[in-house]
Amino acid sequence: MSMVCGNCNQAGIRWMGPFSNLTHTECPHCGGTNCQVVEQSDEVEPELANCGCGARGEVNYDDGHERRYYCYGSLPMCSP
Ligand SMILES: [Zn+2]
Ligand SMILES: [Zn+2]
Repeated sequence: MSMVCGNCNQAGIRWMGPFSNLTHTECPHCGGTNCQVVEQSDEVEPELANCGCGARGEVNYDDGHERRYYCYGSLPMCSP
């Protein structure tokens, strides 16, 4: 995996320092240190569930054994 510089947008960021103790990264293009862009690839997807009325959204209710979504609409089924 190559790291991309956040300053100049070029790949090639290298870890610097002795192999047993890498202290920082350095960009060979602009000389910046610790300027790599952190990849968002392992972003956590929000967990989705259905409200009683059929609306779908991010889980906002968890009583320990049931996780579900309430849309807090006007219907009785729409809130806990
Ligand atoms: Zn750079
Ligand atoms: Zn609802």
